[in-house]
Amino acid sequence: MARPRKSPVSSPALALPPALASWAEAIGDAIGRGLARALHNSGLGATGGNLAAPMRKRGRPPKVFMGPVPPERRCTVPGCERESRSKGLCSAHYQAERRRNLAANNKPKPS
Ligand SMILES: [Zn+2]
Repeated sequence: MARPRKSPVSSPALALPPALASWAEAIGDAIGRGLARALHNSGLGATGGNLAAPMRKRGRPPKVFMGPVPPERRCTVPGCERESRSKGLCSAHYQAERRRNLAANNKPKPS
């Protein structure tokens, strides 16, 4: 014998009274509209410069070109046009020099 269904509670959403259901629907509509408006206002820069926190690019900021390096501040390695950072060398050549010195100092002594 089939079990008789007591009440239509198979789906709780349908068990809401009509007033509550329409209220919930209205809330959902309002939320959807608000979200759409917020997305529209925050996007694409069409509203002018009222963005408090503009999107920042990640990573290293782009290098600012300051014009040619004057000869007295140039790296002393011939052919290198970069600005000297320390000991008359650019950062690349300074690091190369430093690495060379470290390797020379750490070389195991021949016994
Ligand atoms: Zn250099």
